[in-house]
Amino acid sequence: MGFFVHAYQPIHILFLNTHNHMFKPNPIPYQTCTLANTTITVKRVDRVHTTISGNKFYKLKYNLMQAKQQGFNQILSFGGAYSNHIFAIAHACNAYGFDSIGIIRGQELASKPLNHTLQTAQSLGMQLDFISRSDYRNKHTSEFLAQLKAQYPNAYIIPEGGTNQLAVKGCSEILSKEDTQNFDVIVLAVGTGGTIAGIMNTCISDNSNQQVIGFSALNSDYQADDINKLISNNYNNWQLYKDDVFGGYGKYNDELLAFIESIKQQASIPLEPIYTGKAMYRLQQLLKQGEFESKRILFIHTGGLQAFEY
Ligand SMILES: *Cc1c(COP(=O)(O)O)cnc(C)c1O
Repeated sequence: MGFFVHAYQPIHILFLNTHNHMFKPNPIPYQTCTLANTTITVKRVDRVHTTISGNKFYKLKYNLMQAKQQGFNQILSFGGAYSNHIFAIAHACNAYGFDSIGIIRGQELASKPLNHTLQTAQSLGMQLDFISRSDYRNKHTSEFLAQLKAQYPNAYIIPEGGTNQLAVKGCSEILSKEDTQNFDVIVLAVGTGGTIAGIMNTCISDNSNQQVIGFSALNSDYQADDINKLISNNYNNWQLYKDDVFGGYGKYNDELLAFIESIKQQASIPLEPIYTGKAMYRLQQLLKQGEFESKRILFIHTGGLQAFEY
């Protein structure tokens, strides 16, 4: 029976299966650390792949499969100078035979030495196209996209931060069956929300008692609505905390850096101050206030270390 099911799979499914090795995950380690006298488990999704780290691995997986299947040989996306997304795309395209184009925020950067993120991307073959901050702000408009499509007719375009339905589908593979059974609360850092949406979709189908807590890297009031649009069903068992502690995206202080250092010393878990460090710090704050008492907590390490290791 299994043989016949396999033999009569539609052709596009066969194609996807043959390309599954493209995104073969490494085994993902779990570690523990202690916050406010509570032991939490950390799933080191940053270790999912040697070069395509963390949630970006899952966000790119089905997009690149789709691009291959549709015959594209070029991937185009957007990001800032330190973008984990751009870095991951450059690596993935280099490994899987796509040309890559990075539209980078900040025209002034074109005449400066490249930082580690951009230098790596370029050395992997990514074409860097620097645009002004005002053009960058307009990158979602239909005029801008039409112009881009005219300029790069053969490119598969992935939005900034990589969030679309295929990214959400990939992120629904982050939680394993065991994760949905062994933990009461899932905690993670949030940017565009694609990752948390994928995780919630897993909870919706596998364990709707699981509580999902997102700590945003942004200080925005509109994100929860956007995230609700990405999930497969209503989910009431989740909360999003905006970054009203450190002042918003990319902002951090010495206290946060000291906290990150303390976690590294205590548990050998590296964090960074844009996403994972803030999320872990905010989790500690809530634990100190008595939240999640006697709950089994799983913190998803989404990666992002590339910009801070140099
Ligand atoms: C990109 C990124 C996020 C945000 O992911 P979204 O799907 O955009 O919410 C979180 N953590 C790290 C380390 C990232 O690089």
